[in-house]
Amino acid sequence: MSGDLHDLGVADIGRALRQRRCSSVELTLHLLTRLSGHASLGTVLSSDADRALEQARAADAALTRGEAGPLVGVPLAHKDIFVTDHARTGLPSTAGSKMLAGYASPFDATVVARLAAAGTVTLAKLNCDEFAMGSSNENSAFAPVHNPWDLQRVPGGSSGGSAAAVAARLLPAATGTDTGGSIRQPASFCGITGIKPTYGVCSRYGMIAFASSLDQAGPMARSAEDCSLLLSAMSGFDERDATSAERPPQDYHASMLQPRTGASAGRPLQGLRIGLPREFFPAALAADVDTAVRAALAELEKLGATLVDVSLPRTELSIPVYYIIAPAEASSNLGRFDGVKFGHRAAQYTDLMDMYKKTRSEGFGPEVKRRIMIGTYVLSHGYYDAYYLQAQKLRRMIADDFQACFQACDVIAGPVAPTVAWEIGAQGGDPLQAYLADIFTLPASLAGLPGMSVPAGFGAHGMPVGLQLIGNYFDEATLLQAAHALQQATDFHTRRPT
Ligand code: GLN
Repeated sequence: MSGDLHDLGVADIGRALRQRRCSSVELTLHLLTRLSGHASLGTVLSSDADRALEQARAADAALTRGEAGPLVGVPLAHKDIFVTDHARTGLPSTAGSKMLAGYASPFDATVVARLAAAGTVTLAKLNCDEFAMGSSNENSAFAPVHNPWDLQRVPGGSSGGSAAAVAARLLPAATGTDTGGSIRQPASFCGITGIKPTYGVCSRYGMIAFASSLDQAGPMARSAEDCSLLLSAMSGFDERDATSAERPPQDYHASMLQPRTGASAGRPLQGLRIGLPREFFPAALAADVDTAVRAALAELEKLGATLVDVSLPRTELSIPVYYIIAPAEASSNLGRFDGVKFGHRAAQYTDLMDMYKKTRSEGFGPEVKRRIMIGTYVLSHGYYDAYYLQAQKLRRMIADDFQACFQACDVIAGPVAPTVAWEIGAQGGDPLQAYLADIFTLPASLAGLPGMSVPAGFGAHGMPVGLQLIGNYFDEATLLQAAHALQQATDFHTRRPT
């Protein structure tokens, strides 16, 4: 097949494979070469060419038999927060941490297993912030990831390896996870499309836990259409996850393409009410981000949507609320890394307590340690009521604020992040700066609502800017519809870094 195979997205690849214009083996070989040729981007933590080719050969055989699922033979890679069966894939599962360096999982995460069952080919495990704690990938224990639009800049985080690899055309798509913005913010920084579905839509089974009441998986790809195909395969009830939503399987691609009532060819979004929370457009919002986001909103208006003013009065409080609840849950979840059950164990120690201390001191990086300490503090006797309980109460109020907005609108829109991607090292190790930059993604996470980042244009230094869309519970279809309509009318999602 002529042309650049790596320019094809998920839907295109599926079509090309079914029409036998290329084979999965051919694609897999091409992308493996590209991945190793771009190793300096830092996106890949591990890959196994032989196992990938085995999967590609099986997919080609299925295609020959006429098995025509949309994802059969499509190559992708997983954020290294998902465990992958080592015997099947040859890939370790590290969570970007020295604590789990080389860890061989005996099973696949549900999301991984479902994508494998849909016929996808796993090329690699992708770099991320350690235990998904971060906004820039600078917290990876292994290597920083570089933004393909400007190698001096961060790709965002924590799913930065996924976003950078998709943006650089090393992969058509990747999985990500989002606890407080980790799909949306790197998607925005790298100019790709990503969706965090409603909490409970994708199983958390086999996702190495950070903050269990917030963690949610989702696809990262070049277009809303590609995301819809992946989400259909990844999602669905899983009895192994106690908070999995008990809903019938969804075809997000079909619901995305379903015309809205009252829509016409030029006005596919006729009747859609988009709420703009005034707190999402503060004076401190960078001018380039503001301009790109407002231009995208004007485009959505042309497509038939109406813009309405709404308010999320507790937006600023999302930061302290999240940075109490997420570390509290993390401190508990990370208790399992004690040198006994799995992962790193200190080589020399005097007794059990000494072994715990040395193992955890050596295995965890500084941001993870900071969060374990904050989390342990806010949960401790005497402080629980003052911090954790207060945060839980505010979390409920933040969720209620969204429901008040959804009386007046169908979708909420705003920026994903207050600025474009910053330079590597620019924050000088001050964690508060990164925490504050999460202001626009945390509210939807705390409320458990679906959120999406859609390429909206470019800002300072030619860096991508994302538009955030937030929907009501289980209304991923409306987000995907709005994003798809925007992508039919604009070409930001097709631009690529040089
Ligand atoms: N930046 C946020 C944090 O550091 C969100 C991370 C995430 O969504 N995994 O916790």
